Amino acid sequence: MSLSNGRAYLAIPGPSVMPDAVLQAMHRASPNIYEGELHDLTDGLIPDLKKVAMTDQHVAIYIGNGHAAWEAALANVLSRGDTVLVLATGRFCVGWGEMAAGMGAKVETIDYGPAAPIDLAQVQDCLAADKDHRIKAVLAVHVDTSTSVKNDIAGLRAVMDATGHPALLMADCIASLGCDRFEMDAWGVDVMVSGCQKGLMTPAGISFVWYNEKADAARGDCVTTYWDWRPRTRPEMYFQYFDGTAPTHHLYGLRKALDIIMDEGLEAVFARHATLAQTIWAAFDKWSSRGPMQLNIADPPCRSHAVTAVAIGSPLGDKLRYWCEHTCGLTLGIGLGREPADAFFRIGHMGHVNAHMIMGVLGTIDAGLKALEIPHGNGALEAAAQVIAKAGTADVGAVRQVGDACCG
Ligand SMILES: *Cc1c(COP(=O)(O)O)cnc(C)c1O
Repeated sequence: MSLSNGRAYLAIPGPSVMPDAVLQAMHRASPNIYEGELHDLTDGLIPDLKKVAMTDQHVAIYIGNGHAAWEAALANVLSRGDTVLVLATGRFCVGWGEMAAGMGAKVETIDYGPAAPIDLAQVQDCLAADKDHRIKAVLAVHVDTSTSVKNDIAGLRAVMDATGHPALLMADCIASLGCDRFEMDAWGVDVMVSGCQKGLMTPAGISFVWYNEKADAARGDCVTTYWDWRPRTRPEMYFQYFDGTAPTHHLYGLRKALDIIMDEGLEAVFARHATLAQTIWAAFDKWSSRGPMQLNIADPPCRSHAVTAVAIGSPLGDKLRYWCEHTCGLTLGIGLGREPADAFFRIGHMGHVNAHMIMGVLGTIDAGLKALEIPHGNGALEAAAQVIAKAGTADVGAVRQVGDACCG
């Protein structure tokens, strides 16, 4: 007997679940790249990409993953020898800083460890001490996917302003865009990077850099022809959008994904992710009351709505993941950036995810804890169902009407 046949759920924090409509939009012959539909489609993506980032500034599209967007962003603002301040709250900001170092920047890091957000007071002190304004840019990750911490980016801007420091604020929203609220302009972010394979529900392969005029004016000597964002945002010819052949099928997929997001409404997308995250936390509150399993981030306001990192003790992380995948068809994310990795696992709940999928994840984990005899508190699924039920009470009136119409 196998209980895993049927539709699998890849609940890893990217790539995320792709809507069938996105896949169908990509299932086509190659389009003409010189004129016609693809050009109109690409022009139409730009305003929607600005909407999801809540910005009126510029956006450049790159053929590449999130790492490509990291390099693009750095290349456009840095000169060799510039100093960048890395605010590390997990593996990803460290990685972005390593990339800056590889490009010839001096990297200063404040490391908050694997289970805490950025301490804004400490950043303020650090910037205030930088009297000569050597720091050219502050690098922060909105949601670090390894730890599932969410940082206060608006608060970061506030402490930068409070010190009068002119550094650029650069944010990685690869795991949060289209899941957690992010407001580029209102929060005073100068450069933001994201990819398409997480909240934007499109196969990995294109990524984006949003930037404002201040960031553009900072331009240093690291910029190279391919990474230069200017021709991509002010194209005189279509091919300049991509510096070569357009990523044709990705563009069709992204168009459909953005349609799905706009149809639901960005506020509704945020609210859905928030409710589903609270559903997961409610289950963990119960499970964690006994036994080894704990959420990595203790403070709810500092938790991502798109990914949840869990500590469970070595080697139970790997055992539980293996059981869920092979017995039930649920793939959980590996522990990342923590040692030993098999003491952790992560749940991806970003993008095309709904209540029954989350209840399925939680039910599967509950079964796994029992099968593997991992001690845990009771009542997790009950608590999760309560969150869904409470959030869904607004729909009960509509259900009653349907019931009256069918059965009355
Ligand atoms: C996924 C991710 C990255 C890396 O993106 P790739 O597409 O794998 O290169 C960087 N930062 C964060 C926060 C991420 O979640």
